[in-house]
Amino acid sequence: MKFLVQKFGGTSVSTESRRKFVVEKVKAAIDEGFSPVVIVSAMGRKGEPYATDTLLSLLDDKFKEENKQATDLLMSCGEIISAVVMSNELNKVGLKAMPLTGGQAGILTNDDFTNATSTNVDITMLSDITSKGYIPVITGFQGMTKEGFITTLGRGGSDTSASLIGVALNAHEIQIYTDVDGIMTADPRIVEDASLIDVISYSEVFQLADQGAKVIHPKAVEIAMRGNVPLVIKNTMNNCSGTLINSIGDSNSTRIITGITYLNNRIQVSIKLEDNQGNPHYKELLDIVANNDISLDLINIFPKEKIFTIDSSKKNMLETIFKNINIKYTLIENCSKISVIGSRMAGIPGVMAKIIKALSDSNIDVLQTADSHSTIWCLIESDKVNEATNILHQTFQL
Ligand code: ADP
Ligand code: MG
Repeated sequence: MKFLVQKFGGTSVSTESRRKFVVEKVKAAIDEGFSPVVIVSAMGRKGEPYATDTLLSLLDDKFKEENKQATDLLMSCGEIISAVVMSNELNKVGLKAMPLTGGQAGILTNDDFTNATSTNVDITMLSDITSKGYIPVITGFQGMTKEGFITTLGRGGSDTSASLIGVALNAHEIQIYTDVDGIMTADPRIVEDASLIDVISYSEVFQLADQGAKVIHPKAVEIAMRGNVPLVIKNTMNNCSGTLINSIGDSNSTRIITGITYLNNRIQVSIKLEDNQGNPHYKELLDIVANNDISLDLINIFPKEKIFTIDSSKKNMLETIFKNINIKYTLIENCSKISVIGSRMAGIPGVMAKIIKALSDSNIDVLQTADSHSTIWCLIESDKVNEATNILHQTFQL
């Protein structure tokens, strides 16, 4: 039996009329001779009754922090509702569907509640029910500990579920259905003329996803890559061919830059030697911060200054640490990190210079930069991030 994993995101299953498109995609898979395995997210986005954020808003912050296992039980409800409702839609057109929780589908995880990692996928149940002609409709975003407690896999976790199941079943491909035509050169909500990428490598998508492009979760890319199962991103509402993600990418392309993305909520931290003369902790500052589980990014070390960025959620923690060891520092809040990504930029001179020139010509201050063989990062103020993304998109004629 050749399996096709089809994952449908929150907007794809949010209304009855959209769920009809989902049914069409499942029927098409069967017509092509595949055994479909469906994975669903919770219905709709924040504000809609069964969306994950809506469920979470029923709990207070203290409870959520202190009762992660219970929080997971609540958060898993959105996908459970969605899987049963979707099974109903499939039944209406004469297809036999069976809703399953992540645990029932065999996704076993550690007990890191609210952000669990899969330890193993046991396909016994899936093999059994598909051989009996059922279409499994699996709740995305969730797994189960070996003791039987429901866990969730972190934000965007339904993509991860799709990759876990796709790799375990050695599926023909993993199709991620969403509300855009595929992976675009930039978020189409920000850049109106962003263009569709037909084929792209796992590593470039990983970079895009890891640096903010919400269209697929980086963990899902990593799992599919390790299992060498192709991922395809498609629009639920049309028949566009979408974006194929594989290990080779587009070998015919001569484009230096593949895409642009950004991450908000960054804070730039600067610590000057002259403000901290005689403080024994100055030397080992980065270690102290990292050992407190604050991840640092864009790290620049100069003889007289250390600069790095953190996520804004870690601000209070960082300030407490610095207060305790009497470190003087300055912060620039509300920053965004723009990433210009392209595996062919290695060895091509002038890409960074072109970026800096384009941004400074538009009076956008670049607070910090960094580069690797496939990505250039620039830190700018968040209120300029949409403008900067559009300018760079134009500069590289994406
Ligand atoms: P789903 O609910 O289907 O999982 P998501 O909201 O997680 O959907 O992901 C789809 C969204 O990703 C799109 O609506 C789009 O705004 C956003 N997005 C960000 N960057 C990109 C990109 N480079 N290409 C396509 N979509 C992107
Ligand atoms: Mg998503």
